[in-house]
Amino acid sequence: KRVEIGPATHRIDLSLVDGRAISVVSTLKNAGYEAYIVGGAVRDLLLGLRPKDFDVATNATPEQVKALFRRAFIIGRRFRIVHVVFGRGREHEVIEVSTFRAHLDSADAEHVSGNERTAKSQLAGVKHAVDASGRVLRDNVWGPQHEDAARRDFSINAMYYDPQSQIVVDYHNGFADAQKRVLRMIGDAAARYREDPVRIIRATRFAAKLAHLGFKLDAKTSRPLAALKGLLADVPQSRLFDEMLKLLQTGHGQASVEQLKKLGLAQGIYPLLDLAVQRAQEPFMAAALQDTDRRVAEGKPVAPSFLLACLLWQDVRALWQQRTAQGEHTHPALQAAIDEVFDARIGDVSGRGRLAADMREIWMMQPRFEKRTGASCHTLAEQPRFRAGLDFLQLRAANGEVPEMLADWWTQFAQSGQSVREDLIAQAR
Ligand code: ATP
Ligand code: MG
Repeated sequence: KRVEIGPATHRIDLSLVDGRAISVVSTLKNAGYEAYIVGGAVRDLLLGLRPKDFDVATNATPEQVKALFRRAFIIGRRFRIVHVVFGRGREHEVIEVSTFRAHLDSADAEHVSGNERTAKSQLAGVKHAVDASGRVLRDNVWGPQHEDAARRDFSINAMYYDPQSQIVVDYHNGFADAQKRVLRMIGDAAARYREDPVRIIRATRFAAKLAHLGFKLDAKTSRPLAALKGLLADVPQSRLFDEMLKLLQTGHGQASVEQLKKLGLAQGIYPLLDLAVQRAQEPFMAAALQDTDRRVAEGKPVAPSFLLACLLWQDVRALWQQRTAQGEHTHPALQAAIDEVFDARIGDVSGRGRLAADMREIWMMQPRFEKRTGASCHTLAEQPRFRAGLDFLQLRAANGEVPEMLADWWTQFAQSGQSVREDLIAQAR
C-alpha cells in the first residue's frame, strides 16, 4: 500500500536537504525517470537530523544514470550502483544512485541464478550480471518501487522523498514508526536475518544510534537476534570488520556496546568486536570509546587504526614489559610484542596493510615520547602519525601509565612555534 505524506504532516526542513542530492533528483526527473532521496537520509530528515550522506533511488538503470552525468561511475558487483561525484578535494561529495531492485524470494532467486528468465524477472526487465553466484544476480534484478521498498531492512529506512513535490512515499508504516520511535524490520524478522545476517548487526547499530531519541527495537524484531547470531559465521570477515567499525566509530560506540550486551550479542559476532565489548568496561578502552564518540560529535576525524591500537594496547604492553624485564632493549622488545599481538589477534585483517602499519606507528612512537632531547623531539613531531601518537599518549596519561606532565609537555610542543619549542626542550632537561 503506497502512502503519500505531504510537507504539512512530515515537516521536513528543506534546509537540511543537500543541494546536490536535489540536483541529481531533478536531472533524473527531467530526463523522464522516477527519482527520490531514499533510505537513511529520509529517516534522518524526518527526525530533524542532518543526514551525513544522501542516496538517490530511481527507475533508471545504472547505464542510463551514468549517461546523464559528467562525473558518474558505475561501481560494485554484488550491488551495482552509480556514484555521481561533485566538487574536488575537501569539497568532494558523492551521491549514490541505485536502481529500484526487485524483492525476490529464495525460489525466484534460484531461477535467476540458473540464468533462466522467470516471469517475474522478465516483467522487471532483468539485468543479468556477469558473476555466477545467485546472490550477485539476485541483487541486480530491477523492479518497481514497491518491491524496492520491501527489500530494505527497517520500516524507517524504507521511505522515499521527492524534494520537488516535498512528498514522502511510505509503503511500510515507516512514518508512523518514526513518530512512535520504533525500529521495526519489514516482513518476518527471522527470515530477513537469515536472508542477510548482517542485518543482525544493523539492528544493533540503529538501536544504538537512535537510542538518544528514544528509539526501541520492536519486540518481534529483537526477539530472534540472539538465537540467529551464529549465522554471522558465514559472512565474509571483511564485511564484519566494516560493520564493527560502523558500530564503534560513528559516534555511538558506547551505546553500541550497551546494545550488544542487552540483545545477547556481547560475544560471538566477530573476534575483535567481542574483545571490544569485553574491554569496554576497563578504563583505557572506556576512555578510548568515549573519546571517539566525542570526536565524532565535534565533527573531528577518527581513524580505525587509533581505536584498534587502543583495543589491543594492553596485550602489546604486557608482552613488551615481559620482554624488557628479560633484558631486551626497549624498541626491539616493543617491535616483537607488536608482531606477537598481530599474529594472535589480527590475522583476519592482515590484508589491510595500511591499517596495521598505522597501528604499529602509533605504538612505536610511545617510548620515543619519553626521550625529550633536542633533535629527536623535532623528528618525532614531523612524523605523519604524530597527532595520533600524541592522542594515544594522552589516553595513557589519563590512565596513569605515564605522567600527565609528559602528555602536557608534548601537547604544548605540538602547538608551539620554533622558539617556544626550544624553550620547552631546555626545560625538559
Ligand atoms: P547510515 O546513516 O548509518 O548510513 P543508512 O540507513 O543510510 O544509515 P546504509 O548502510 O547507508 O544505511 O544503507 C542505505 C539504505 O540501504 C538503508 O537505509 C536501507 O534502506 C538499505 N539497506 C542497507 N543495507 C541493507 C541490508 N543489509 N538489508 C536491507 N536493506 C539494506
Ligand atoms: Mg547511508
